[in-house]
Amino acid sequence: MKSKITVLIAASVIAFFALSAIQGYLVYNTYQLEKKAFIDETKKAVEELDANKKLDSLYDSWGDQLQLYLADYKNLRIDKNTVIQKIKAKATELNPAFYKEFRDQLQQKNIGYQLKVKKTVSSIVIYDEKERDTIFKGNGENQLTIFGENFSNREANEITTSHWFTEYDYIKQEGDKISTSSLGLDVKSHDWILVIDWRSIIFKRMGMLLLGSIVIFLFVAVLFYNSLQKLIKQKRMTAVKTDFINNITHELKTPLATLSIATKSLRDEKIKQTPEAFENSLSILERQNTRLQKLIDQVMNNSLSSEKIVLNKEYVSDHSYFKNLISDFELSIQQQIDIYQKLPEKETLINIDKFHFTTALFNILENAVKYGKMNSEISLKTSIKNGSYFIQIEDKGLGIPLKLQPYIFEKFYRVEKGNVHNVKGLGLGLYYTKQIVKAHEGSISVKSEEGKGTLFTIKIPLNL
Ligand code: ADP
Repeated sequence: MKSKITVLIAASVIAFFALSAIQGYLVYNTYQLEKKAFIDETKKAVEELDANKKLDSLYDSWGDQLQLYLADYKNLRIDKNTVIQKIKAKATELNPAFYKEFRDQLQQKNIGYQLKVKKTVSSIVIYDEKERDTIFKGNGENQLTIFGENFSNREANEITTSHWFTEYDYIKQEGDKISTSSLGLDVKSHDWILVIDWRSIIFKRMGMLLLGSIVIFLFVAVLFYNSLQKLIKQKRMTAVKTDFINNITHELKTPLATLSIATKSLRDEKIKQTPEAFENSLSILERQNTRLQKLIDQVMNNSLSSEKIVLNKEYVSDHSYFKNLISDFELSIQQQIDIYQKLPEKETLINIDKFHFTTALFNILENAVKYGKMNSEISLKTSIKNGSYFIQIEDKGLGIPLKLQPYIFEKFYRVEKGNVHNVKGLGLGLYYTKQIVKAHEGSISVKSEEGKGTLFTIKIPLNL
């Protein structure tokens, strides 16, 4: 049974994490799809802008200038580097017009987010009948930006790649000889866009989905946690109740067996003849009867919660109350025991239901005796602090392991397990004590060290 529940819990935990991973994967996939859709949409919008006559004519005039510089190059007036320098300068000159036109178009389109564009050239090659000559070649980041803004290609998206092929005539000068020659030109260019803050735009678009996923995930996590907690609690309760049934059977057996022996002995002629023996059997009957009554009372009281306890409070003097309490207790346990008492010198009136409060303190004192070592000290000290009355009962007995301390006020809980006890009990005493203290609007706490002893502190408000 125990291992089955453990397997169930482990399987649920694994299933929960697997589900979370699937959910995470689905959200990630949606993000990727959204990203692609967004980029496609932006590309389309910008492509439309790109097919603009004014922008085209700016590129054309840059191209015309390039052709002239290339002619100079062919005539050995300038070298490749100078060609590049010069066409860069031309681009810089044309760029404000390009930039303005692009911005105006973008504004008209009302695209809804900010973007940057640029046009780069990655290769310029010239050729004639004899040879091909590469004027410029640049890969990746190393391209020639001619129009637009300067930004890294890594974050950007390339929307178009195009080749511009042309053949044109130029005047060739070789010494004094002047002729017309034809030159082929191939310019490879790229259009790039960079959407500013594109990640947050996608996240905004996924807003509902993300929010929904997070809410559902949290909801399932809380539900899962609660169910697991309930399962573990129920599992513990079942074990505790089984223990209780074992305990009560054990507790009832002894007085019943004694009762039956004592009743039989009363029928015995010899005992009838001896008044002392007869009286002894009768008092055994009486004692066992009282014990059974006490047991039944405890079981009956276990259904009482603090709200159901009806108190009949009165003001009593702490000095006389605790004095009587201790002497009654010493009498009731029929054992020689000394309880050390320490009360504040000044008498104080405490507002309690004497009957219930005494039961609560008796339960703690009984435990101090039950779980104390032989002849070990028990002390009862009281004090007043910040408008509250504190009662501390301490023993130097077995103590309670730290990790079990939170459970001792629960119904049916006993530190010893099973029905083989050295110490009798039903696990109800402290539960009932706590309910009584709560009904008095007070609190109870425990401090204990295994093998050293236990200290219970009850705090009740004064002047109520
Ligand atoms: P019980 O009938 O078992 O005494 P209680 O509710 O009074 O039930 O106490 C719950 C458990 O707390 C006990 O079974 C015992 O293991 C532990 N306990 C209570 N008081 C003491 C104490 N003074 N010293 C050691 N253990 C204690």
